[in-house]
Amino acid sequence: MDIDMDTQKLVEVTILRNAIDYNGSAKFDTVISKILGAKPEIKNNLKDVMPKIKEIMEQINSLPIERQRELLLQKCPTYLETKKAVEKNEFHLPPLLNAKHGKVVTRFPPEPNGYPHIGHAKAAVIDEEYAKMYAGKLILRFDDTNPLNEKLEYYDAIMEGLSWLNIVPDIIKNTSDDIHLLHFYGKKLINKGNAYICLCDQNTIHHLRSKGLPCQCRIDSDKVLENSDKIFNGYYHQNEAIIRFKGNMNSDNTAMRDPTLFRIIENTHPLLGDKIILWPTYDFAAPIEDSLDGVTHAFRTKEYELRNELYQQILKNLEMRIPEVLEFSRLEFEGLPVSKRKLKPLIEEKKVEGWSDPRLPTLMGMKRRGFTPEAIRRFVLSLGITLSETKPSIGVLEAFNRKIIDSISKRLLFVNDPVKITIKNVKQKEVVFKNHPSIEMGSRKIYVNNVVFISSQDAEKLKNGMEIRLIELYNIKVSYIDIEKKEGIVEYRDNILKENIPKIQWVSEEDLVKYMILKPTKLFIGDRFNHNSLEVIEGFAESFVTTLSTNTMVQFIRLGFCRIEDNKSAIFTHK
Ligand code: ATP
Ligand code: MG
Repeated sequence: MDIDMDTQKLVEVTILRNAIDYNGSAKFDTVISKILGAKPEIKNNLKDVMPKIKEIMEQINSLPIERQRELLLQKCPTYLETKKAVEKNEFHLPPLLNAKHGKVVTRFPPEPNGYPHIGHAKAAVIDEEYAKMYAGKLILRFDDTNPLNEKLEYYDAIMEGLSWLNIVPDIIKNTSDDIHLLHFYGKKLINKGNAYICLCDQNTIHHLRSKGLPCQCRIDSDKVLENSDKIFNGYYHQNEAIIRFKGNMNSDNTAMRDPTLFRIIENTHPLLGDKIILWPTYDFAAPIEDSLDGVTHAFRTKEYELRNELYQQILKNLEMRIPEVLEFSRLEFEGLPVSKRKLKPLIEEKKVEGWSDPRLPTLMGMKRRGFTPEAIRRFVLSLGITLSETKPSIGVLEAFNRKIIDSISKRLLFVNDPVKITIKNVKQKEVVFKNHPSIEMGSRKIYVNNVVFISSQDAEKLKNGMEIRLIELYNIKVSYIDIEKKEGIVEYRDNILKENIPKIQWVSEEDLVKYMILKPTKLFIGDRFNHNSLEVIEGFAESFVTTLSTNTMVQFIRLGFCRIEDNKSAIFTHK
């Protein structure tokens, strides 16, 4: 007998994996128990499937291990990567340079201009882990020096996100708390001749920067120091003046061509209101704050690389302590943008439901999707602090999550696009369903009279006269089936376990609820938003689902893991 495609793939992948683990030769018993663990229905069919498994196994075992690896990668492209990450149970971040036990201070500096996402989780987890590793301190510093974009709502969202990740900072502060200090150091830098007021318009600045030439403001900067007082006293308005670093207009590093240190922004600041209009840029605020806060090791994402020279130079000029600056790569996924810059428009244009839309890589979205904070942490640590630009696959994160939720998720029945099946010559019956095939999680009873519903995908394969098994129930024989009308009539046969008949899922008419599963798919296809990125799967579920509270994780047999949203719907997490 032939086995169905799904089973065939499961068998091949299981054998290949086992073969690779055991020097090219898969072990029959291990393979069988893994296959049955993944697909318990096969038990009912074992006699038939067994020879087929043996046959596939002999074939695979006869191949050289390199070929087995190739085959596995073809069938399951993310497998090796996932396995490596998941099986490494202990994650060791490499030690830090110049780190003393008890003395390390790290900081996570989000700008409160949006909701936190998995990229922030990466930065925050790494900062926290290093602080823990050296019994040091973690500072959460809201980098709030651009009142154009910042809102109170976002400070709260970041706090909530970190708390969900179980990250507890030792110190929480805002860059804006230190605004007067930042002004003080700005003045100092001007007085030392390392910065100047520039009154040029943006075009001129841009033009001269690209040519590597100084502007008149720089040339005259030693003579016109009175402008300096004016900018601090509120004389200038937005776009009329900025403070620039006196760098090197000729430098190969364009970040050193007199970058902006302060600019005037006349928007209301969420914490300071309208009191302050002269705001430092990140380039200025970050080194000063890091130095003043006692940060010993400052992590940044790689795109700041060019700005490190400026970071160091500002502190050198001010004769301030210089922290170690370290870099790691920005986390990104294929087809799933992470940056707020790309996520915000989706929310503003109402293409998604909001920051907690389950399609989004925001922490709130991922929580709603059914990802656990522990899985996110392990995933981040498995990536380490490499600078490599390769995008990790979301499958790796899913594998970590699966490992955590598998043992807490009850297995439930769900049929989509239901077809009504009337069963002739049958008595009412009560079936006991185990909540989990291998872990003791109790059981539930389902009453069945003479009507069940099956999914139309299953119904399409039925033909008159065919015998099938309704899983865990009994065997029936099809008398009539009409897919258009979504109905069928079958005859009760017997309840003997037979190995060579198809087994299908069902939901009892006596025990069902209308149910909906929201399934996120690719958010972007290429550069375009995918308007079909949230698939709606409608059908019937066992009424048992309505007894489960919001946030419960379940596994709908065949479909995958889901997080219960309310008593009418769940959100698909992953397979
Ligand atoms: P976005 O593009 O989402 O606005 P950002 O870097 O401007 O990102 P911040 O709030 O300024 O966001 O970032 C706070 C911290 O989180 C910084 O240290 C930043 O480097 C880090 N971070 C942000 N996004 C990522 C990411 N995708 N991967 C790794 N770290 C990130
Ligand atoms: Mg930013």
